[in-house]
Amino acid sequence: MTIPHHDWIAHHAAYAPESLAQVDLHSGRRFTYRQMHERVQRLASFLRNQCGVRKGDRVATLCHNSTDGFEILFAAQRAGAIELPLNWRLAVPELEFILKDAEPVALIYSEEFAPQVEALRGRLSIPHLILKREGEPSDYEAAIDAGIDPFEPEAATLDDVWMLIYTSGTTGRPKGAQLTYGNHFFNDVNAAMKAELTVRSHCLVYLPLFHVGGICVYAIPLFHFGGTVTVMRQFDAARALALLADPASGITHAFGVPTNFLFMSQLPAFADARFDHLVTVGVGGAPSPLALLELCASKGMPLTQAWGMTETATLGTFLSKEMALAKIGSSGQPVLHAALRIVDGEGTDVGAGVVGELLIKGPTITPGYWRREEVNKVALADGWLRTGDAAYVDADGYYFIVDRWKDMFISGGENVYPAEVEDAIYRLEGVGECAVIGVADERWGQVGRAFVVVKPGAALDEAGVLGHCLANLARYKVPKSVRFVAELPHNATGKILKHELPRD
Ligand code: AMP
Repeated sequence: MTIPHHDWIAHHAAYAPESLAQVDLHSGRRFTYRQMHERVQRLASFLRNQCGVRKGDRVATLCHNSTDGFEILFAAQRAGAIELPLNWRLAVPELEFILKDAEPVALIYSEEFAPQVEALRGRLSIPHLILKREGEPSDYEAAIDAGIDPFEPEAATLDDVWMLIYTSGTTGRPKGAQLTYGNHFFNDVNAAMKAELTVRSHCLVYLPLFHVGGICVYAIPLFHFGGTVTVMRQFDAARALALLADPASGITHAFGVPTNFLFMSQLPAFADARFDHLVTVGVGGAPSPLALLELCASKGMPLTQAWGMTETATLGTFLSKEMALAKIGSSGQPVLHAALRIVDGEGTDVGAGVVGELLIKGPTITPGYWRREEVNKVALADGWLRTGDAAYVDADGYYFIVDRWKDMFISGGENVYPAEVEDAIYRLEGVGECAVIGVADERWGQVGRAFVVVKPGAALDEAGVLGHCLANLARYKVPKSVRFVAELPHNATGKILKHELPRD
């Protein structure tokens, strides 16, 4: 059965035209659904009539977060295009690789990325380059002004691809995960049920809009419902904290990676902040230190741990607020529209409490990576996505993500999951941030090395960190060395880039 996909923005513009759709914190712009619909329609008309965008063509963006990002997503939909949001942290050769792989017909970019676009111009040919300046006069605003030609939006089905999102590529060449309207629709349903989204919900978005964290939790689900999305240009811990702690801001929902909450929690204003008025604050995308979850919960933050991936249009599991402390450390139970398995190296299902690789199947799972048929045969065999995550399920059916398989190391024949070691280190007073990796060792094969950022004003030394680990962890898990660093490398989403930490 081919199920049509409907135009949500057009629907809300007709049903509740004066409802607030989006707020752009950086430029101060605010758009009702009527205004958003008009801008989306004009941009789609421009893309179709003046750029010649046809069904299945790619339209790329290289921009900091703004409300324009969502206009472009919905305009691409109306023009039948696949939106390709580029990671603005990538170097020119990395961007070139992706652009050659995806072959977009148009690239919309913010002024601050003009040097990258200039460099790319000599390396590949993209028919339409559109400059934008967040509401200021630019090619982009001119395109919206010019998009007045009659235009019939492209009919879409749930099987059509809406977005192409390249995964970070830390394990090889980046791959474009295709996400369909159906993937998003079912993620919207899953998210709404678990995060209690309604037409009255208002989400603060600070994760980048080139990542599912910024797109799918909970912006796209809220556009489905006709709720409100406030967009922050880049994560600003002080501003995010102020908005989340202030009931008058109207914000009801947010989602972040652990680093977002870690940085907010280290601000002086956090000491007096309360978050009881919020409906749901999701945390996921990387292992969360338990001490951080406990601290946020003590401030009344309705924290919900979740696990998901780009390839799953975000949510695969969700831990309810009610169980947040009882099952602390768990990423929760499978969302309604997903099936999960945990298998050993031979692909055989393992029992409760046994660590294996997490597999997931369901309507939110990507139909495959763009132009990677051979990879897809392995990564999505029988429709089960191999996540690369080590996990176990407890006797009550709650899933625990232990770590990435590739981050696990073997010391003296024993598996060590760095996330568990980091969790212990975070409990030591004075630790601002930490990361543990396995490094080569003549005697044990591999041993742990901890990288620690000390909080301002605190004093820590190697013996103190190692002594704390020895008191709290089995000896084989205790790192053999500690390096104190000023900061850890993060990607634009805020996840720690462990492969950039020195192993020599
Ligand atoms: P990405 O596709 O960039 O969003 O990365 C997805 C990966 O983030 C997953 O495969 C996990 O390794 C990690 N991840 C997501 N959620 C969690 C979580 N709740 N706990 C631990 N790791 C997570």
